[in-house]
Amino acid sequence: MAIIPSDISRPDALTGQWVRVVLDVPLQGPFDYRCDFPVATGMRVIVPFGRRKMIGMVVGLPDVPAYDPKLIKSVETVLDDIDPLPDHWLKFAQFAADYYQRPLGEVVLPALPVSLRSVTAYQGKRSAGGPVARLDNRRAPAMKAVAASDVPALNEAQQQAVTEIVSAEGFKAFLLYGVTGSGKTEVYLHAAAQALARGQRVLMLVPEINLTPQFEQALRARLEPVAGVGGLAVLHSGLSDGERLRAWLRVQRGEARVVLGTRLAIFAPMQDVGLIVVDEEHDPSYKQQDGLRYSARDLAVWRGHDLGVPVVLGSATPSLESWVRADRGQYKRLDLPARARAVSLPSVRLVDTRRLKMDHGMSPHLLTAMRERLDNKEQVLIFLNRRGYAPALHCASCGWVSQCPRCTTFTVLHRSTPGRHQLHCHHCGYQQRVPASCPDCGDQDLQPMGRGTQRIEEHLAELFPESRIARIDADSTRKKGSAQALFASVHAGEVDILVGTQMVAKGHDFANLGLVGVLNADAMLFSQDFRAPERLFAQLMQVAGRAGRHTGHGEVIVQTGYPEQPVYQALLKHDYSGFAKHSMQERESAMLPPFSHQALLSAEARELNVAIAFLQSAKEAAQALMEQQQSAEMITLYDPVPLRIVRVDNMCRAQLLLEASHRPAIQSLLRQWLAEMNELPESRKVRWQLEVDPLEI
Ligand code: ADP
Ligand code: ZN
Ligand code: ZN
Repeated sequence: MAIIPSDISRPDALTGQWVRVVLDVPLQGPFDYRCDFPVATGMRVIVPFGRRKMIGMVVGLPDVPAYDPKLIKSVETVLDDIDPLPDHWLKFAQFAADYYQRPLGEVVLPALPVSLRSVTAYQGKRSAGGPVARLDNRRAPAMKAVAASDVPALNEAQQQAVTEIVSAEGFKAFLLYGVTGSGKTEVYLHAAAQALARGQRVLMLVPEINLTPQFEQALRARLEPVAGVGGLAVLHSGLSDGERLRAWLRVQRGEARVVLGTRLAIFAPMQDVGLIVVDEEHDPSYKQQDGLRYSARDLAVWRGHDLGVPVVLGSATPSLESWVRADRGQYKRLDLPARARAVSLPSVRLVDTRRLKMDHGMSPHLLTAMRERLDNKEQVLIFLNRRGYAPALHCASCGWVSQCPRCTTFTVLHRSTPGRHQLHCHHCGYQQRVPASCPDCGDQDLQPMGRGTQRIEEHLAELFPESRIARIDADSTRKKGSAQALFASVHAGEVDILVGTQMVAKGHDFANLGLVGVLNADAMLFSQDFRAPERLFAQLMQVAGRAGRHTGHGEVIVQTGYPEQPVYQALLKHDYSGFAKHSMQERESAMLPPFSHQALLSAEARELNVAIAFLQSAKEAAQALMEQQQSAEMITLYDPVPLRIVRVDNMCRAQLLLEASHRPAIQSLLRQWLAEMNELPESRKVRWQLEVDPLEI
C-alpha cells in the first residue's frame, strides 16, 4: 500500500473524502472511512470500530474506497493537537511492518505515547482539550544547565574513527570495535558534536538507561554546550506516561536535538537526523520480546539507510551478525585496539572446579584473592546470574524437588526477610510458602539445592564479617530509585563486596573495583540455544571489564568445570576476534545465522498436542506454498517441537522453525503463509505468533 504524501497546506481541498486508517488491532487492515474534516496522512483520528471507538492513524487518502461506500462509517474526530507524523516516519513504520510481518497499525500506534492513542484521554470526563493541551498548560520542569565537562584529546585510533564517520556521505554503516574503556563513547560524542554543529540531530540508542544515570549526565555535560540546555531528550520504558509524552513531544516538535533512548526510541519521530549510534550493539535487550518483535539495532541500520545518514554500531563483543557484515564489507569496521587511558586490561584466571573442594560454590583461589583485595581496600564483585536464595528446594530422603504447579519448572527459593523463605516461580509469578515437611514422604529435612545471589550474600557475610556487602539484582532493586541508590553507594566506597546478576555488568565505571569473581558461568554454556556461547562470551567480557578500570591491575576469576571450552580460552586472552572466527566457522558449517535466515512460528494451548497439531498443519500449508513459489530448495522447515520449558502458566508451548539461505524467499513465503494462518481450523484453538530473526530458539 502506498502512502500518499500529506498536503495540509490546502486543507479545504481535502474535505469530504475517503481516508485510509490503521488501527492497533490484530487484523491486517487498513480500514477506510469517510471524513468530512480537513485531514492529512500522519494525523490521528477517532473512528468507530465494531462497537468501540478507537484512535487510528491516517496513512492514505484514496480516491475510491476499497469497499462498498454504503458500508463505510465516518471519522468522528480528527485530532490536530500535534503536527502530522511525517511521511519518512510512516515509511519507516511500513518497512518495519513488512519486514516483521505485522499489520501497520500494530507498529504505528504502539510507537506513540499511551495518551495519544487512547480515546479516553480525549473524550473522558477530565479530558480538558486532550493530553497535549493538558501537558502544555502545566509548567514544564525547569531545565538546569549541566556544567560542561572537559573534552579529552582523541588518540589516533579514535581520531581516525571520527574522521571516517563524519566524512561519510549519505548512508554508511560502521562497526566500531573496541574493548571496554577503549573510548568508544568519546568517538560517539565527537561525531555527535559535529553533526549538531552542522545543524543536524542525533539519535543514540543504549541497551539500558535506568541503571546508568551517570551516562546520561556525562552526555548532557558534553552535548548540551552544543545542543543547548534541554537539547537532550531521554526516552525509555521506565518513564511514567506523562514523562514519556513530554519527552516524545519535545522530539516531535524538534526541540530536542539529541535523543538518547532504549530500543523504543528507534521509533521517535525525529527530523533532520544526521547520525545514529547504537552502543553495545550486541546486547539482547535491543530485541523486543513481545508484540512487534523487532530488533532496534537492525531497524537503526535500515532507518539510517532510508534517511541517508551514517550509523555507528559500537561494541567490544559485536554480534556475529554485525561481525560477518563487516567481514563482507557491508559495514566498515573501525578498530580501537587499546584502552584509552594507559591502564591494562584485567588478567583472567580460570579456576578448574572439578577437583577442588568448594566452599558454598566458591573456590579457595577465589576466597584468597578476595581476602587480598579487601585487605588492600579494593572492592570485589561476585557475579552470579541467578537471583533468589537457591534454584530449588529438595528432599534428600525421597528426591522430591519443589515444582511450580502451573509450569514445568522448579520453584526458586527466596528469602524475604532474614530466616523467612518462600518459593517463587520465575516464569509465571506463582508464590508459595515453604512446606514444613516433604509433600511426598513427610521428611522434615528439606534442603536448598544450588545457590542464588541471596545465599552467596548470606555466606559471604559469615566469611567476611568485617566487610560491607551489597546485593544488586532484580529483587533488591524493585523499588523505583533503589538500583540507583545501591550503585551510588558502591561508587561512594560504602560497599566492599558487591554480589550481583547481569544488572551489575553493564556500563558502570567502578573506580576502586579490583577483582571480579564469576560463579556458575557453565550454566549458560550448555543451553540449547546456538547463541548461548556468544552471549556468555559477551557477558563475561563485559563483567570482566569492570575490574581494574582505573588501576590497571584488575583480575577476573572464572570458576568452571570446562576450562578447555573455546569461550573460556578466548576470554583468557581477551580474544574476541579469535572467538568470533571459531564461532563463524561453526555457524557456517551448520548453516546457522548469520549464514541463514530464520523465522519461528510459536503456538501455545492448554494441551501440547493441540499446539503441535496447529504447527503441523501450518507446516503442511507452508510446504504447499513452497511448491507454488518454487522455493522448496531454499527453505528448510523443521518439525514442530515442544519448548524446553513446555508448560508456563498452564499453557503448553511448541514451535516450528524455518530456515532459508535466501531472505527474499522466506519473506515472500511468510507473507502468504500468514494470510492463510487464520484460515486453518486448528488456529482457533491456539495462541500463535510469528517471529522474524528470532534471537532465542
Ligand atoms: P568505552 O565506551 O569504549 O568503554 P569510554 O569512552 O567510556 O570507553 O572511555 C573509557 C575512559 O577513558 C573514560 O573515562 C574516558 O573519559 C577515557 N577516555 C576516552 N578517550 C580518551 C582519550 N582520548 N584520552 C584520555 N582519556 C580518554
Ligand atoms: Zn521426601
Ligand atoms: Zn510457574
